[in-house]
Amino acid sequence: MLLKTILNRIQRYPGFVYVTFRLLDELGELRVEIDVEPRKGSRAICSGCERRRPGYDRLKPRRFEFVPLWAIPVAFVYAMRRVDCPSCNITVEVVPWAEGKNHLTKSYAWFLAGWAKRMSWSDVAAAFQTTWENVFRSTEMAVQWGLQHRSLDGIQSLGIDELYWSRRHHYLTVVYQIDAGTKRLLWIGKKRTLKTLLSFFRWFGPERSQALRFICSDMWKPYLRVVAKKAAQAIHVLDRFHIASHLSKAIDEVRAKEAKQLHARGLKPFLTRTRWLLLKRPENLTPKQETGLGELLLRSNLRSVRAYLLKEDLQRFWSYVSPYWAGVFLDRWCTRALRSRLEPMKKVARMLRSHRPLILNWFRARGQLSVGAVEGFNGKVRVITKRAYGFRTYRAVEVALYHSLGRLPEPELTHRFC
Ligand SMILES: [Zn+2]
Repeated sequence: MLLKTILNRIQRYPGFVYVTFRLLDELGELRVEIDVEPRKGSRAICSGCERRRPGYDRLKPRRFEFVPLWAIPVAFVYAMRRVDCPSCNITVEVVPWAEGKNHLTKSYAWFLAGWAKRMSWSDVAAAFQTTWENVFRSTEMAVQWGLQHRSLDGIQSLGIDELYWSRRHHYLTVVYQIDAGTKRLLWIGKKRTLKTLLSFFRWFGPERSQALRFICSDMWKPYLRVVAKKAAQAIHVLDRFHIASHLSKAIDEVRAKEAKQLHARGLKPFLTRTRWLLLKRPENLTPKQETGLGELLLRSNLRSVRAYLLKEDLQRFWSYVSPYWAGVFLDRWCTRALRSRLEPMKKVARMLRSHRPLILNWFRARGQLSVGAVEGFNGKVRVITKRAYGFRTYRAVEVALYHSLGRLPEPELTHRFC
């Protein structure tokens, strides 16, 4: 039979043979069942000690789902042997196509996990007529394997970021490798506390921590303290992306407060519609938005406009080459912001001023680490966690993030099913 020839070519298990292939028709639903038997004279492997042991008896036949063929479900049917093991007593055998009590074969699990990288878990489940749970378990298996087999050698640059993953503002701390050659998600921890980042460094180990050259993060105090303690030799860079997001928040505060005041004075709720104009980069505006921004800037006595101009002006800071002149510019900018009488902007200015050396490190690190990497990952993580809102559990979010962003290795399979 042709199927047997194909299967023997792509998926052979030493010590076992494919015996019979059955096509079943249950009320129009087709199914393929393949009976698997031990090769004559081969002894079973004890699952306790992984040694070949004499047989004891056999259990009832079990079904193991295999990769479907032409949208027809395929299953192996096999009666597990029990061995009489001198060290483990009567124990069930291990079989090469499945792990433990899993009713999915390894090939099928890797197949589902492979598709789960390309589309959402519910789409995978629908496409292959299986359950969401099966797709999740398979992806989890792939992630576990990948984490165990990945290499952590030669990591020089880290990016640390925090974000919330559920509507209830549960925070995550994520650590990326951001070396020029390798960018990947390295680690995820619950919350964004001192303890969270400490547990990262505990896992990462002192030797690897001391080999770090750059660390890129936000001005979040617990992070600053932990990095200074655990990787003091690394150049700590406060990255541009986080500074920009602090400024955007400040502008939004100024705007919201002013809009409220204008509204209270019976003025047109002009500022409520202009939120995005002030937060967007000028080059990303549509022609219509540009006109709106022009109108807004004309009313430059508005506090929101002054905040916006301050933010735009800081963009020039990043174009400096010399850290010295960048520092001079930063000091002048902070002085102006502190005189602006805009409380949220003053707060940012004070924050920048107190972290001056770390901000100027950006110029010392430029060209040596990919400064946009954290921002890029942040965007991807948001897409994945948003899609993951349906998952509800932290574990599912963790698995989804490692699977999509961890660049995890996969085993060398004799045949790739997808
Ligand atoms: Zn044993």
